[in-house]
Amino acid sequence: MHVIAVASQKGGVGKTTISLNLGLALGRAGNRALILELDAQGSLGLSLGLADRARPGVAELLTGAERLESVLLRTREPELQVLTVGRVDPTTVAGFEDALARGPVLPSVLARLSPDFDIVVVDCPAGLGKVTTRALEVATHALLPLQAEPLALRSIGQLLAVIDRVRAEKNPQLSLLGMVLSMFDRQASASLDVAETLWTKFPDGIILDTVIPRDEAFLEASLRGAPLLLMQKRPPPLARVFDQLANDVLVRLDPTSPDDDDGPI
Ligand code: ADP
Ligand code: MG
Repeated sequence: MHVIAVASQKGGVGKTTISLNLGLALGRAGNRALILELDAQGSLGLSLGLADRARPGVAELLTGAERLESVLLRTREPELQVLTVGRVDPTTVAGFEDALARGPVLPSVLARLSPDFDIVVVDCPAGLGKVTTRALEVATHALLPLQAEPLALRSIGQLLAVIDRVRAEKNPQLSLLGMVLSMFDRQASASLDVAETLWTKFPDGIILDTVIPRDEAFLEASLRGAPLLLMQKRPPPLARVFDQLANDVLVRLDPTSPDDDDGPI
């Protein structure tokens, strides 16, 4: 089972949007996929239209209040399930994060999911804090969304350093799946500059070919609580970006044998 941690140092760069739509696209392509939300803010659930903040999830697994089978959520896509963050009161976020980062629950949940899923996409909170670090410790791959704006260039070095450290100290199998440019605005010279700088700085193919454009439809989708990929009236080209992204990801996960199931977890 592949576990892809979607991480970035900054918030608002498209992690949740990418986790959600990539997970959907992977599910649609026939992979047994799970989207795992580790961000206490719970925006993944909201983007899926689960306005019900009382829905149990990861938080209830940490306290032992619920069993894994009862918090997994089926979706319209037969191959896709979701595990949302659960009930995290804003005043208890620190405790939730501590429990998630220190305890054995996350690796043991992944071990139990392993026979039933091909790919888990992990929606991390913003920043390089303990939850993101923990996610990287249990992941097989890191996928790094980069907002196409100049400040993004500054933060990427730190994130790459964290990945190197986690790999050296805790998780030798962690590999960098790639960086994905998000919120790319073809009309803005800053977007183009950033893209050019990145391509020059990382010429070794670490930046995925698929670029996520900036488009109001994403905002509208999250406001409506309907994932872009499931919005009926959208013109297909934008949604198809995630089919492309899923394809890029699948090629990188298993360049030789797409059915290789020998994950370390
Ligand atoms: P993060 O999880 O990194 O904080 P989100 O995926 O929640 O980021 O995105 C932050 C906001 O930007 C959300 O309102 C989302 O709808 C919007 N958004 C995400 N991706 C795009 C995009 N490509 N174009 C326009 N808006 C986007
Ligand atoms: Mg998010």
